[in-house]
Amino acid sequence: MDLAAGPEPGINHITFALGEEQRELVAVARRFAQERLRPAADAMQREMSEHGIGAWRVPDGLLADAAAAGLLTYAIPEASGGGGLDAVTSAMLMEELTAGDPGLASLFGSAQLFAGGLLAAGDAMDDAVRDRWLEQLCAPEGAYAAIAFSEPHAGSDLANISTRAERDGDGWRISGEKTWITGAMPGTTALLVFARTGGPGAGGISAFVVPGDADGVSYTKLDLMGLRTSYTGQVFLDGVHVDGDAIVGGVDAGFLVAMRFFAGSRPQVAASALGIARAAFEHAVAYANEREAFGRPIMDRQGVSFLLADMGMRIEAARALVWRACDAADRGEDVGLVGSYAKAFASDVAMQVTTDAVQVLGGAGLSADHPVERWMRDAKVLQIVEGTNQVQRMIAGRYYAQGVVAVP
Ligand SMILES: Cc1cc2nc3c(=O)[nH]c(=O)nc-3n(C[C@H](O)[C@H](O)[C@H](O)COP(=O)(O)OP(=O)(O)OC[C@H]3O[C@@H](n4cnc5c(N)ncnc54)[C@H](O)[C@@H]3O)c2cc1C
Repeated sequence: MDLAAGPEPGINHITFALGEEQRELVAVARRFAQERLRPAADAMQREMSEHGIGAWRVPDGLLADAAAAGLLTYAIPEASGGGGLDAVTSAMLMEELTAGDPGLASLFGSAQLFAGGLLAAGDAMDDAVRDRWLEQLCAPEGAYAAIAFSEPHAGSDLANISTRAERDGDGWRISGEKTWITGAMPGTTALLVFARTGGPGAGGISAFVVPGDADGVSYTKLDLMGLRTSYTGQVFLDGVHVDGDAIVGGVDAGFLVAMRFFAGSRPQVAASALGIARAAFEHAVAYANEREAFGRPIMDRQGVSFLLADMGMRIEAARALVWRACDAADRGEDVGLVGSYAKAFASDVAMQVTTDAVQVLGGAGLSADHPVERWMRDAKVLQIVEGTNQVQRMIAGRYYAQGVVAVP
């Protein structure tokens, strides 16, 4: 091998040494997550367990403070008012925010998800329209938005959605129902709605920006076991009119937009799984050092310390894979395979680590006095969203069927 020529194609030449700016950003995110998100989430969880899901409410000022700290729109291009961070650094911030609280991190990330959908359209979207929306999301008071693919009868099988958009003068009229949508709630700035404009299958779908308060849009909140501090809603679209320039990526090109969107979002969802796993691991380590049984801290027992060691190893391995996927995205490589690996592996790790954290805490692990039981419920969500982990393995199988067995 000619060393002067640099690494051979296919040989991993990534270094993960953190730069000064990354360290500072991570420190800001960690402080906000631990000092603001975690206590807010604890209070929200208490309220909801006493009074039910109707008591859900994000504390006043929290969103605006997150915006002021640069933690809502860090991945949106600088030209549109965002932080312009690369995927690796964005993943670091996502891990920190999620380690504070997975539900609030998910909800506060909704504007960036929506932005990811618009950016996935590339040149096939009017720049002025895209910038208008992105600038609204970057408002100093912060904003929520949503990206709405899933329907009651089509989740994994996205090509089978039945929400319809019909021509209506120069614009479109959209009718249908979306479900399980993060950030779909009264007050949300905008929704990116996928609707059928053509025949059946993937080739007949288009994407539209719908203002969150458009006539004919209504919401209900879902009561789920995980990510309870987030807002997961149903959206009903009853003949909602949008202008012609609301289309994102061209008529019948929505499925392509969706696939490009997922390529960018999956490594970030994987990063959020790291945050849950790390929070649970750290909590379990602290507890094992503190808790005594048979006259000694339980950490002194190999049965406990080996369990913790496996948790720590899995998190480190998952983080290496997540950063690998993000690095591939930053290099403009095809992240379909490695992104699916990262999403499935990291969320499976989060499920296992949170389950083991409950085990380390014993009975206390099952009690709401400690956050590990709710992180275990949150981890379950990540095995399902953004394409279930079976779907990620199905995607990997498609690469193998084409003879592709290694990430670039
Ligand atoms: C908290 C939360 C937030 C969400 N946020 C959003 C959002 O913001 N926007 C949005 O559009 N959606 C969102 N979703 C929806 C999520 O993306 C879907 O739930 C997910 O894609 C799975 O779809 P489904 O629930 O319809 O399950 P189904 O597609 O009905 O799948 C049921 C089961 O069958 C398996 N399965 C299906 N097809 C196959 C196959 N071909 N091979 C093997 N197994 C298969 C699945 O893996 C799963 O285990 C959210 C969901 C949750 C829970």
